[in-house]
Amino acid sequence: MNILVVGSGGREHAIALAVKKSPLCDTLVCAPGNPGMANLGKCVPVDVADPKAIADLAVAEKIDLAVIGPEIPLVAGVVDEFRRRGLRAFGPTAAAAALEGSKAFSKDIMKKYNVPTAAFETFTDLASAKKFLAEHPAPIVVKASGLAAGKGAIVCMTDKEANDAVEEMLGDKAVFGESGKTVVIEEFMDGEEASIFVVCDGKDYVILSSAQDHKRVFDDDKGPNTGGMGAYSPAPVVTDALLDEVKKTIIEPTLKGMAAEGKPYTGVLYVGIMVTAKGPKVVEYNCRLGDPECQIVLPLYDGDVLALFDAAEKGELAKLGVPKAPKGSSAIVVLASKGYPGSYEKGKVVTGIEEAEKNGAQVLHAGTKMVDGKLVTNGGRVFGVVGHGETLQAALDIAYEAAEKVQFEGKFYRKDIGKKGLARLAKMGK
Ligand code: AMP
Repeated sequence: MNILVVGSGGREHAIALAVKKSPLCDTLVCAPGNPGMANLGKCVPVDVADPKAIADLAVAEKIDLAVIGPEIPLVAGVVDEFRRRGLRAFGPTAAAAALEGSKAFSKDIMKKYNVPTAAFETFTDLASAKKFLAEHPAPIVVKASGLAAGKGAIVCMTDKEANDAVEEMLGDKAVFGESGKTVVIEEFMDGEEASIFVVCDGKDYVILSSAQDHKRVFDDDKGPNTGGMGAYSPAPVVTDALLDEVKKTIIEPTLKGMAAEGKPYTGVLYVGIMVTAKGPKVVEYNCRLGDPECQIVLPLYDGDVLALFDAAEKGELAKLGVPKAPKGSSAIVVLASKGYPGSYEKGKVVTGIEEAEKNGAQVLHAGTKMVDGKLVTNGGRVFGVVGHGETLQAALDIAYEAAEKVQFEGKFYRKDIGKKGLARLAKMGK
């Protein structure tokens, strides 16, 4: 098959690596790709926000299956555009991707199909939102309903923070633009978070290894939120018993509900859960693989990732049978540019990748580019360094040893990735 991977981050580099490993893959085209992906296939520029341009490219390159990495093209309807033209793309339709594209929609689906989640109300005018806040004291969570690059959820520990948040979204400033014109205000949930990745074909599903990520920029979960500073998989908090509960109370009712709504879900459904004292509850749905979790979850799949995506797109997951449990653990440490997630400098020369990969680690490109034959930094998150091992500790050791060897001016990374997982494993006597 000729495969197109759409996107340019670490997630897409990991997808490209997994696809390239498959005997089903003849040629790999990446759009727009990155310097790491350029070592695996041809990179072609494309506007990822433009479904028509992506479909045109698929025709020109004689693509048999496109794998869409980011949420923007999915929410914009790239899968619908492919289907209209008789082309194949792995991912949800726009109607199904609304589980991520509209928090108001996803909360309504959860309510209608009894999926456990935080109690909530939806608002479009400032006065009603403020009145609600006056009756519901902090802690409370204010969320922009639309896509906001992971920055639209504000966990408010004081009433003032909550009032400021609704004012920013629904007031004249409209800080989140259209995305914040509908606001979901929801109950604060206390517990440990985990991510569950479900490959769906509209009827059946396959669960990939669970993961936990680190959103805050500094050690001990200090500083502002980022796209993700590291992650590990599997997540010790997701025991077999918990996963069974997640399947019965969250995944199956969600998929049945979406089918009943005439919006069957095909693609990766990423369920962010909070493990509360009252059981697992949904924090959010995303309509694609997570970044950086994808980089550790795909290599743990004990099978052919391309065959999995292909079967899901065809509605034939049942033919694959139940996948084996993942062997070992994986961890990723993100190397970022000084200043991220605020402003940072670009164009710093990178060295040491080959040296870093000598211990079996993999250095995935997230924000790099080639200038005059030299690899330079081109983003806030520059690389994800992945380690695999029999244990979480072994995976972390490999990732951290390699993280030290990659060099660029202003490099920084969290030193405590996986600490929470190791503490839980110790408590479990593992
Ligand atoms: P979201 O964009 O909905 O995934 O929210 C981003 C982050 O905010 C989550 O990963 C949680 O850490 C936090 N969060 C969101 N909703 C809640 C909630 N209801 N209670 C506590 N924390 C939340």
